[in-house]
Amino acid sequence: MLPDRITVEPDEVIFRVPARLVTPIEDIDYSGVPTRRERPPGRPPRSVPAAPAGWWSVQHLPAPVGGPGRRVIHHESCWIPTGGAGLTLDQALGELARPGGEACTACEARHLPRS
Ligand SMILES: [Zn+2]
Repeated sequence: MLPDRITVEPDEVIFRVPARLVTPIEDIDYSGVPTRRERPPGRPPRSVPAAPAGWWSVQHLPAPVGGPGRRVIHHESCWIPTGGAGLTLDQALGELARPGGEACTACEARHLPRS
């Protein structure tokens, strides 16, 4: 018994329960109820995806005293402004392979293969 002016409306509820505790209610249509669990989002394939097309740039970062300068490779679509992106893919890979070269982790450069 509910107090006056309090009403109850059906709503969707999601909860986990062992199947052995579930019993169908008579005269209820369950045809729309999924009986298979949706697959979780798949992991990306293990193979290295092809490097994206476009132009690349190098961002020169200050070197620690006595250390080599860091050069971060970016794709032209990167949100980090690096000036003009004028390197071809081959040039970008060459920069990446040099000491101090690293791929930006925020843009397509993270997909570049390391040699
Ligand atoms: Zn970047």
